Amino acid sequence: MLANTMLTSISGRTLIVTGASKGIGKGIARVFASKGARVLLAARELAQADKTAEEIRTDGGVASTVAADVANPEDCKRVAETAVVRYGGIDIVCCNAGIFPAARLGEMSAADWDQVLNVNLKGTFLTVNSCLAALKERGRGRIIVTSSITGPITGYPGWSHYGASKAGQLGFMRTAAIELAPHNITVNALLPGNILTEGVEALGAEYIARMTSAIPQKRLGSVHDVAYAALFLASDEAAFITGQTIVVDGGQVLPESHMALEDL
Ligand code: NAP
Repeated sequence: MLANTMLTSISGRTLIVTGASKGIGKGIARVFASKGARVLLAARELAQADKTAEEIRTDGGVASTVAADVANPEDCKRVAETAVVRYGGIDIVCCNAGIFPAARLGEMSAADWDQVLNVNLKGTFLTVNSCLAALKERGRGRIIVTSSITGPITGYPGWSHYGASKAGQLGFMRTAAIELAPHNITVNALLPGNILTEGVEALGAEYIARMTSAIPQKRLGSVHDVAYAALFLASDEAAFITGQTIVVDGGQVLPESHMALEDL
């Protein structure tokens, strides 16, 4: 008799999600916790993350927080150690922390470039590296990287450093997927389009309205749209999928020109 659920339960598995105080990371934390995962939320500022962890616990879930800057190797080590001490190991790692300040090429400083690459790309490597020993010990693991359509598929003025960091995450992912395959650890990436998060809200109402008109589904994504894609990649059923990407964008990358949307 088949169980009446879509996917095998992830109940009791431990998830680390970086950048979990807001936006997509918070959405991932909430969705995984609602499915019974034990969630460690990492972010630099803990006030918001603590609030989310408290909400999860109020709803009957298991969650706690740890302060960490993913660009700092010592912080990343502490995140992994905290998960092992509090929850006895690590099953799933969502490398989600990211920043997207804009700067056109002529105005972009070396420091601007380093900041974005350090958080988005080096932060992904450091997070994975710190969790490796614990993931290997389990004999099974999931690493899910939040990349973007920007960089791997598209471009946008002001985000050359951001696009490079997000495309770089995919280069990292593909070799990591090969290296970790013998350990039964899969490494995959999500490529969100425009998702309504605190970070995107800060880009302003005009950006959001214009972007909405460029998306065939005529809405920005929700953090749950991304979180459920992550949940699938974390499932037992996705065990044979590694080194791959899932675009979560309401069709944003599909139109071959603005005419394709105007002709709808
Ligand atoms: P957001 O609303 O601005 O939230 C970003 C999160 O990352 C916050 O929790 C922030 O908390 C944390 N963070 C930032 N720098 C960090 C650092 N150095 N160390 C640890 N945590 C850090 O962003 P979002 O829109 O949810 O984006 C999350 C991820 O999705 C990013 O990787 C972004 O590139 C990607 N993405 C987003 C969209 C979108 O439309 N929203 C589209 C494509 C890809 P603290 O500031 O407290 O550290």
